[in-house]
Amino acid sequence: MLKAQRTYPWRMAENTARPGFETRAIHAGQQPDPRTGAVITPIYATSTFAQDGVGGTREGYDYARTANPTRTVLEEVLASLEGGAHALSFASGMAASDTVLRSVCRPGDHIVLPNDAYGGTFRLLDKVLTGWGVEYSAVDESDVDGVRAAIRPNTKVIWCETPTNPLLGVADIAALAELARNAGVLLAVDNTFATPYLQNPLELGADVVVHSTTKYLGGHSDVVGGAVITSNTELHEQFAFLRNSAGSVPGPFDTWLTLRGLKTLGVRMDRHCDNAERIVEALRAHSAVRAVYYPGLAEHPGHEVAAKQMRRFGGMVSFAPHGGQRAALDVAARTELFILAESLGGIESLIEHPGQMTHASTTGSPLQVPDDLLRLSVGIEDVRDLLDDLLGALDV
Ligand code: PLP
Repeated sequence: MLKAQRTYPWRMAENTARPGFETRAIHAGQQPDPRTGAVITPIYATSTFAQDGVGGTREGYDYARTANPTRTVLEEVLASLEGGAHALSFASGMAASDTVLRSVCRPGDHIVLPNDAYGGTFRLLDKVLTGWGVEYSAVDESDVDGVRAAIRPNTKVIWCETPTNPLLGVADIAALAELARNAGVLLAVDNTFATPYLQNPLELGADVVVHSTTKYLGGHSDVVGGAVITSNTELHEQFAFLRNSAGSVPGPFDTWLTLRGLKTLGVRMDRHCDNAERIVEALRAHSAVRAVYYPGLAEHPGHEVAAKQMRRFGGMVSFAPHGGQRAALDVAARTELFILAESLGGIESLIEHPGQMTHASTTGSPLQVPDDLLRLSVGIEDVRDLLDDLLGALDV
């Protein structure tokens, strides 16, 4: 009973008494296979589907670039968790972002971007889309008036990321949604850092949610993927059209890994948050640390907004040691459990130097990050071991 197109009952708008988050993560769009009883959705490793006569598809499937049954189930779950009517999954988070921006923007159009956006998103705009005649302004999106001032007659999209990567800046999604609505502009929110467990931008008025499912949604650092969720059917159809035309789809095994990861998202996020809170506390008390960036801290400039729109404050922590870039690089080289690596959101803890790693593409631009900044993706290991490792690396 897997249909390429079907209406799923646990959707936000249709049913306010929907099951809880963890229940939807495990059951939305999924039921035991009617033929074999298999409890877990199979990996449909097929490129094409037999037809009963020309045009006679069995469940709406004809070719796997257009739709695949494993992918349909993943998209049902993603839509349910974000409270959207439609979801599409992609080969990567960047493929998802690119699809949204290229579906909506034409040469001469303009995009408002956060001035501390993920480096890859900045590169897509600055190095690729500008070549096709699309303009952008990078602004501090924690300042709604600044965003308002950046909107031009040709603005099509406000691109928002909250919390941001890597400085953990916070933007007020509901305020930006109101601004976007009044200006006739689309609000797209990259919800990768927060996940749908902690924050639901569509409920706050955003038009589109984007994810790098490579991170917390997959959750095990074993797959690259992306997702776009919206309740706007017309937009969804434009995104699906471009995805099918350009072919930026995930393969069935990657789709299945993401589907499996999603089942434990809620429990993992609680543990990520617990561990991050303990690490923030220890870093703040440490004399070798100059600054700690975490939206859960009362002194964080975005704390009030984050507390209003997020369930908890997430597993990402950035900090700067005293001693500048050299000291930061030394700390990153000394940790052992915190593996020196790019990416985030997996079960294992990672440390990285954004200036020379994930955000190297922003060097020399208004999005350049401080060169003494370190970013932690706090994993779900025993927090005592994580504290020993990190404090040991600071204590030399
Ligand atoms: N958005 C954010 C906030 C990210 O951190 C990343 C990757 O690090 C992306 C988008 C891009 O995702 P992907 O690497 O899956 O293409």
